Amino acid sequence: MPAPLPLPPALFAAVARYWGFATLRPLQEQAIRAVLGGRDSLVVMPTGGGKSLCFQAPAVVRGGLTVVVSPLIALMKDQVDGLARIGVPASRLDSTLNAAERTTTFEGIRNGTTRLVFTSPERLVNTDVFRMLQNANTHTVAIDEAHCVSHWGHDFRPEYRQLARLREFFPKAAVHAYTATATEQVRRDIAQQLNLSNPDILVGNFDRPNLTFRVLPRLDLQSQVREVIDRHAGDAGIVYCLRRKDVDEMTAALKTAGYRAVPYHAGMDNAARRESQEAFAAEDADIVVATVAFGMGIDRSNVRFVIHAAMPKTIEHYQQETGRAGRDGLPSECVLLHSGADFITLKSIIEKSAEEAQAAPEYVAASVRHLEEMGRYCRGALCRHKALVQHFGQTYTTPNCEACDICLGDTQEVPDAVTVAKKILSCVARVKESFGASHVIDVLRGADTASIRARGHHELSTHGLLKSVPKTDLRDWIYQLIGQDVLVQAGDEYPLLKLNAASWAVMNGKQTVRLIQLARREKRSGTSAATPGQPFALPAGADAELFEMLRKLRRQEASHDGVQPYVVFPDTVLAEMARGRPTSEDALRRISGVGDVRLQTYGRTFLKAIIAHCLRTGLSENVPMPKAAPRTAPAVPALPAAKPSGKKEVAFKMFRTGASIAEVVYKTELAPATVNEYLADFVRAEKPKSIFKWVPEDVCERVAAAAEIHGTERLKPVFLELNSEVNYEAIRVVIAFITIQD
Ligand code: ADP
Ligand code: ZN
Repeated sequence: MPAPLPLPPALFAAVARYWGFATLRPLQEQAIRAVLGGRDSLVVMPTGGGKSLCFQAPAVVRGGLTVVVSPLIALMKDQVDGLARIGVPASRLDSTLNAAERTTTFEGIRNGTTRLVFTSPERLVNTDVFRMLQNANTHTVAIDEAHCVSHWGHDFRPEYRQLARLREFFPKAAVHAYTATATEQVRRDIAQQLNLSNPDILVGNFDRPNLTFRVLPRLDLQSQVREVIDRHAGDAGIVYCLRRKDVDEMTAALKTAGYRAVPYHAGMDNAARRESQEAFAAEDADIVVATVAFGMGIDRSNVRFVIHAAMPKTIEHYQQETGRAGRDGLPSECVLLHSGADFITLKSIIEKSAEEAQAAPEYVAASVRHLEEMGRYCRGALCRHKALVQHFGQTYTTPNCEACDICLGDTQEVPDAVTVAKKILSCVARVKESFGASHVIDVLRGADTASIRARGHHELSTHGLLKSVPKTDLRDWIYQLIGQDVLVQAGDEYPLLKLNAASWAVMNGKQTVRLIQLARREKRSGTSAATPGQPFALPAGADAELFEMLRKLRRQEASHDGVQPYVVFPDTVLAEMARGRPTSEDALRRISGVGDVRLQTYGRTFLKAIIAHCLRTGLSENVPMPKAAPRTAPAVPALPAAKPSGKKEVAFKMFRTGASIAEVVYKTELAPATVNEYLADFVRAEKPKSIFKWVPEDVCERVAAAAEIHGTERLKPVFLELNSEVNYEAIRVVIAFITIQD
């Protein structure tokens, strides 16, 4: 195969200038090549993969117009606002525009200044809007959330079907479809429904390494949900519930407990839904409690946790819903709380809606199969990343993902699981496969209930066989056995436990099973993922207080400009500001995601805040990026102790030119404490006229005043006099300076 043509330098220049990205991701390069080459494409990229850049960046470097089809007004508005903020001329055509806005939009399209126009499928094909777009030299049509065209997908929208006519309306344009939905069936359907012609099909890697997956039996829903929320205090999250009434109850409970939660479901009227959506987008609410049927419109790139209060209907839904976490690539957590009862509830929901819609029996059968797959995932003992990736037909080779309950050791194998399983199965046999889980559990635990005595079950050999096992564990194990197909739950209203051939194979020692249990219930679930006090998503060395301040500043700026906070700067940029603490425009511009226009608009404001914070706290500034390390980096080996004296000379030389401690640390690779001592030595030896370069004036004043009282012999009394507010490093330098004045 010939090597692919390199992308034009103008493209990279535009990506750097407008978006502030130094590189493109490999799949983005391929997708952009298809767009620039005018070849139809179908791009399947997981959420957070960076789909929008694939059609936005080419639109910037080419003349003419790119039409983007998007399912929701909220999504269109977000993208147009975001593009406006980085200086890319884009507009939207939707029902919310007033007459004046519409005139401006049309004008921009006609005179060729607008590069991207966003619209809905129905507007595009049902009005004569497309005539104007044709005349404006539309060479590219991009279809976002393209799975909406397929009824196999999780979000079928009938109006997307009309897009089959695009070809007819824009015979000269190339059509590109983008989706995060991974199944083969949906992919084929998209290509077919949209009449894509010989499309370049580009499929990304489905693993989302920044997500930590946890699957737990639902024991006490409220407290389990709150435990997760508290791990992410102040961060954004979504709690998915099965039914509208669960959403209302959960929202009320969270609100009462003081959380900033809003509800979102189909039973609410449009205005109320919009209110929830806007509160979440503007960061006035932290948590959206939603039914699983909803959510596309409640996207926020910095969602740090997604909780499922019950099992979703299919693994695709689960992937899509958990996919809303960590779209910005920062670490985020997905917790699924399930119970055996979910299966039954969901099955009856499916059957009821199939009956109402008069769906074919095959539909019900397929839905139940999907449900069973989901159930197996919940009760499986396989790495969650691996299970998900394999479900979508890809391979996963990392032996330990370090980002799921299984690999993190939240769960452990039940010792001698086969014996335990045999006891459970033979109890089901002894009660003649005529009872449900609760009764079997009672018998195994040796309970003395009326129901047991009435049937003589206290005399069974299996009565009391698993006396010491807590009820919740036992119930969970029963569902794990069902999940491994060695036990069957049959009947709808009162499901009974039944045996199958595999059950007998286990009892006869011909087949083996695995059972897992939570390592230790008390406060175990999940504490390994975040250090207390350190927000979940922050990289090592980032200052949490500064991050919070920057977030607040971002909210102010966003509300002042009437845009969503992430449009000002995404969390990734704020996190990097909190870590590297840049103090110059150059340093700020080097952060990935800071382009020219954003630097101009917001740079000064944010730099001032960072500088003020560093001065107040004495934190070092302009801290270089650590070298990229593997995820399980061993402790960093000590640097070779190469001629410290030589390094001291380098440090002195740098101090003479006014270099900061951070710069010297960077250059010499010495420990900051050592560099600080060198600075004190430097001050004593070379007697500079001022030290304000290293310690702000007001701090110098305060240290000097404290030294008047306590003398300059020992640092600690001075430190205490200043209420521990000034760090030892600054005190050491100021005292060195005072002593040379004497
Ligand atoms: P998707 O639509 O696929 O979910 P987005 O387009 O929202 O993904 O992009 C996800 C995140 O990745 C955004 O925060 C975006 O700024 C970032 N991103 C996209 N492309 C790049 C790139 N080439 N370099 C760095 N960050 C990128
Ligand atoms: Zn894992």
